[in-house]
Parts: sequence; C-alpha cells; structure tokens
Amino acid sequence: MSQNGVSSTNGSAKKGITYNNILEAAQRPTPLVPLRKLKVEHQLQSDIYVKLEYLNVAGSLEDRSADKAFQFAEEIGVSRGDEVYVTAGGSTAISYATVAAVRGIKLTIYAPKGEFALVDTVLHTLGVNYIELPVSTYAEARAQTEEAAQQKNAFCLNKFTTNAAFVANLQKTACEIERAVNNKSIGKVGAVVIPLNTGAPAAGIAAYYRGTGDHGVRVIGVTCKKDTIPEMGLDLKNDLLQEYNVEKREVDEEEAYSFTRHLIGTEGIMAGPSSGAAVLEAIKVAKELPAGSTIVVVLQDGIRNYLRHFLDDDWIVANKKNVVTRKDGPQPNATFDPKVLVYDPTKLAGEWTQDPETKKWNHSEVEFNEFNPERPLVLDTVLDAIGKTPLVKLQHVPAAHGVKCNVYVKCEYLNAGGSTKDRIAKRMVEIAEKTGKPGKLVPGVTLIEPTSGNTGIGLSLASAVRGYKCIITMPKKMSKEKAIAMASLGSTIIRTPNEAGFDSPNSHIGVALRLKSEIQDAVVLDQYCNPGNPLAHYEQTAEEIIYDMGDKHIDLVVLTAGTGGTVTGISRKIHERVPTAKVVGVDPHGSILAGPNETDIEFYEVEGIGYDFLPGTLDTSAIDYWAKSHDKESFLMARELIRTEGILCGGSSGCAVHYALEECKSLNLPAEANVVVLLPDGIRNYITKFLDDDWMNERHFLDA
Ligand code: PMP
Repeated sequence: MSQNGVSSTNGSAKKGITYNNILEAAQRPTPLVPLRKLKVEHQLQSDIYVKLEYLNVAGSLEDRSADKAFQFAEEIGVSRGDEVYVTAGGSTAISYATVAAVRGIKLTIYAPKGEFALVDTVLHTLGVNYIELPVSTYAEARAQTEEAAQQKNAFCLNKFTTNAAFVANLQKTACEIERAVNNKSIGKVGAVVIPLNTGAPAAGIAAYYRGTGDHGVRVIGVTCKKDTIPEMGLDLKNDLLQEYNVEKREVDEEEAYSFTRHLIGTEGIMAGPSSGAAVLEAIKVAKELPAGSTIVVVLQDGIRNYLRHFLDDDWIVANKKNVVTRKDGPQPNATFDPKVLVYDPTKLAGEWTQDPETKKWNHSEVEFNEFNPERPLVLDTVLDAIGKTPLVKLQHVPAAHGVKCNVYVKCEYLNAGGSTKDRIAKRMVEIAEKTGKPGKLVPGVTLIEPTSGNTGIGLSLASAVRGYKCIITMPKKMSKEKAIAMASLGSTIIRTPNEAGFDSPNSHIGVALRLKSEIQDAVVLDQYCNPGNPLAHYEQTAEEIIYDMGDKHIDLVVLTAGTGGTVTGISRKIHERVPTAKVVGVDPHGSILAGPNETDIEFYEVEGIGYDFLPGTLDTSAIDYWAKSHDKESFLMARELIRTEGILCGGSSGCAVHYALEECKSLNLPAEANVVVLLPDGIRNYITKFLDDDWMNERHFLDA
C-alpha cells in the first residue's frame, strides 16, 4: 500500500491511499451493517449485524483465504509464471482465479460437477483452465487434482487451502469484528454466525476467541439439510469444527432461498444463498440469546453467481422449488394523453454557477454535502457502503500497450449495488427527501426511472432500504442480470424496444412518463435532469480521486459518458482544484454526446454509455475533449483487465481504459505522468454477454 505524502493536490494535510494492485485493496476491512427492518419484523431484542464480504474485490470471503494460500505457496518458492492446481468451486474458485491473475500464476481448477454455469464463464475470462470432474464430492475431486498436478509436475495448492482460510479469518475477519467492538461501534459479540462449506473460516474465527480465552462467544456454522445450496457443507472439516467448538446448525434449502430473497428486498443486503441461510439462522440465535446481545453474521458472497439460480424465477419454476415467484407489476395503459410525453430531458433542473474568485461551483437548488473521506467499520445502512472506492494502479496493461505513464483506475464496481450510479441514486433520493424536488418522497411513493440499468439497481437498492416502491423502465438491450438484480431488490422492470427514440411513447423514457401519469404518488427522479447526478460526483467521487492521489499530480482523467453526470461533476471539481489536468470524455460511435449529428445514431453493444440526445446533466463545456469508442476494443480491454490485473470490470470500464491508453500514446505522456480512469461497473451485469466467448464470436469481436 503506498501511503501518499502529507502535502497534497487538495492542499489539505490529510492523506489518501492508492493501491499497487487490486489485492492490496482487498486488505481494506469490510463493513458491518445492522438489520433494522428484520429486527422489527421478528421482534428481536438483540442486534444482528451483517458483515459484507461480498464487497471484497472478487466478491467473497474466500478472497482472503486465496490470497493467504498463495502467500504460503510463495514462501516455499512458487512464483510468477508457475503452474498451480487447486480444487475449488463457485465463489471460492473465482477468488483463487483472481488472486492467481494478479500474481501471474497459471491456474488449473478442478471442481466436482455442480451448478456453476456463470462461474465457469468468469473463470475462463480470468484465464483459468477450469475442469469440472464427473464426481460428486470434493474429496474425490481433491484426489484427482493432486494426481493431475503430480503428473504435470505442477504445484498443488490444496495442502494450503484449509490452513490459509483458517489463518486469514483468524487474522482478518475476527480482528475486524473485534475492532468494531473495541471502538464501541457495536456491543460485545455474543455469537458469530457463518455459513459452512469447509468450515475453515468458522474455525479460524472461533480460534481467535478461544485463543483470547473468550469461550463465551458462540461461533455457529450453518449448513443445509440435504447439501443442496451451492457451496454449503460440501467439503466439511468436522474435526476442525470440533476442535474449536464451532456449533453446527442446519437450514432447509427452499426456506433459505425464500428468506434470502426477502433479505435482499427488505434490507438491500445483496447476499448469496448460503449467506441468507446464515442470517435466517441468526434470527433464531437472536431469540435464544439474552436481550441486548450482539450477533454478527459473516456473509460469504453476494448475488453475482446466482442471477440464473435462486434469484431467477425461471430457474425456480424449472427446478420446481417451493419458492414464491414475483408477481407482475403495473404496465402502462395502451391509450394515453400525448401531453404526458411533453418532456425535455436536455434541461438540468436549476443552475450551476461558478465563483469567479475561488472557482468553486454552487447550485441554485441544492446545498452541497461536505466531502467525507472516512470509511467506518459499522454503517448506518447498506447505502453507506456507497463511495470511497479504491484507486488502483495498473501493473501490466499500460506497458503491454506501449504506455509509459502511471494509470490509476477507480473501482466503482465495489460500491454496494455494484456501480458508480449507486452514488447518484442515493444522492437523488436524499435531495428529494430533503427538498421535495422533483417530487415528495413519502412512504408509499412509487419511484419510476428510465435507465440503462445501473441507476435502476442503485435506485432499487435505495428504495429497498428507504421503503419506496420502484418501477424501472429499461431497453431490451440491457442484460437479464441487471433486470434480475433489480427485481430481487423488489422493483418492477419494464423492458422497452432498443430502437425506440427517446421521444417515442414506447421508449424507456416514454413508458416512464406514461406510468407517472397513471400511478398516484409517483415520482420520476430523472437522472437526465436531476442536479444530484453531477453533484454526487462533484462533491464526492472527484474529491475521493484528489484525496487518494495525494501529492501525485493528476495529468489526465478519462471518463465514459451516458447521462454525463460523471464527466460533468468530476470535470468541474478537477478543473477547480487541479487546473492543469485535462478531462477526456469517451462516447461510443453511434451516440451523439461528443457532437450532435443525428445521422450518426446507430446501435452499439457497450451498455450505459452514449445517447441519442444531450442529457441536461451533461455540460459538454466542462470537458476538455472527447474520444469516440468502438465496441470491440472496449470489450477486449475489459477482458484484458480481468485476465491480467484481476480487475473484474464491465464493458464501459474497458472502453474508458482503452481510450485512456490511446490518449496517453497520442499525447506521448512521460513515465512520471499520472492518469486516472473511472471504472463504472463490474462483471456481474455481463457474465452471459461480453465475458462469454460465444457472445463475443457471434459479433466477431474475437476475430483477429
Ligand atoms: N458505464 C456504465 C456501465 C453505466 O451504467 C453508466 C451510466 N449510464 C455510465 C458508464 C456513464 O455514466 P454517466 O451516466 O454518469 O455518464
């Protein structure tokens, strides 16, 4: 971790941090969030806090174990370029693959056969040789992995994995929990509840408490009755659990699926099924412990791997699971008054004004929030896990493309809802709650928003936490994964034709306006006109960049544009504080943001960027210049970032990095120059799209 100097670009004495690779960013503690609504619903006298391990850099608790396992291997001589074999499935496999990608290890993963449809695509993109064996147990798979490694003269990591998980959780997970106790942010812990697969993390946490002589803390491991929940109880180390006195409990599969869906929809905690099962059990534990107890649930992973599993109603029906599927939400009436479509998405509400002396900006309708660099261990709600994303220096990609300078990427996929748009969703809701603009948010209100998906996920998350209904209108082009993520958070999703222009009654904007006229107490926060959109980036995202860069001068900032909120907000703050820095906007071919010419409007695949109109939230004068992007280069770069840097980013991130490197080359930036690129979202939304070779081949994106 490189701690920056004391004097900084922002003139303040405080220092931020940049990371030398994504694994360094993984050293940050994950936050604890109290379950408030479930406490009321279950009339609990104790507090349950969930620890959001799904916000780890590869999406699960196993990131820590994987990193530790490779550290152990390194200690005995395994190094970059070596071949390593390991037995792992699901999230664990993705964690090992991500760590291997960063460390430059050639990884082969063996797993017993299972439901790993999305996982194998991710592993493939990470450059792993993934082999699903025709066996049903981990013991059998492990034996075959060891034999294969021996035959190939490769290193077998299996001998370290249990110890690594044990040590990593003793050192990190347990200490982070106790740090929150020590800070008095939470009360003394009565029980830690954690899903079990091997049980090594649970044993490690228990070992921490037993080692401190504290036998009062119960560590409760949760498995599934018939071992049918992915990654639960499949590889149990019973001896280890007994040794450290980990209690074992079992939950029912379907009950766990139903409950996890409820947990996501009511609390906005986007957990995987084993984590949901652990929370379900924690509610029972809360009723057994004395009133006023504190229970911590360690959430193993998030929703990413299960969007075509228990969160998908089609999967529930096809697999005959006893889980209540979602009902259809409201649809717009076929007949409507054309006046409801009178709307101008090109006008920002209120005005930005700049003080000619200080160069600081103000907005006529909104008071600015103070920049807050803190990242507390215990949050008020999951919405506080938005922002303060890590800034990571790329290690391989710039040099591989002939770029000499330093390129830092801001990993926005590590926000609570998975994208940079979480920030604006939260800010727009805050403004409306405070000022009543553009509509009053009272309980029972329906938020309706036209979006390419990520704002929809952010608003669905904010609605779940704040108790609003939410309807999202979204073009068909956007992935099913985005729709399932939003539906899981309790929103209704309406798909609209890709080809409908923004002013058509059938476009995502047209349908949102029609619904607003038909539903009582409906509010369209409207990311195209809402000052909260650019403001969120002006007040916070850009400040984070300046703070974390510290005394490293910023030369160039490269940002993609959709609504333009990101470029406008960040550009204004960067120009105000670092006047010599240049800000480049990237706009896809087929969009008109970089220069309105309607004949240029055509289809492109990268999601979330470009438009066929100039949104009010985009101020093109705030940007120094534009680059125009192509799909193929964008997706190939995203895949390269995943494979060589372990940065699990989305398509527009690849787009931003590719064109940032092009700029670096055309400006011939020297080795000491510093470039910052924002990565708007992560792989979760695109596993069946650009991560998938077939999808890429159908579009000739992999052609030489
Ligand atoms: N990338 C992705 C994946 C997005 O969802 C968005 C938001 N539409 C952007 C980039 C562009 O951000 P903005 O709307 O702030 O211009």
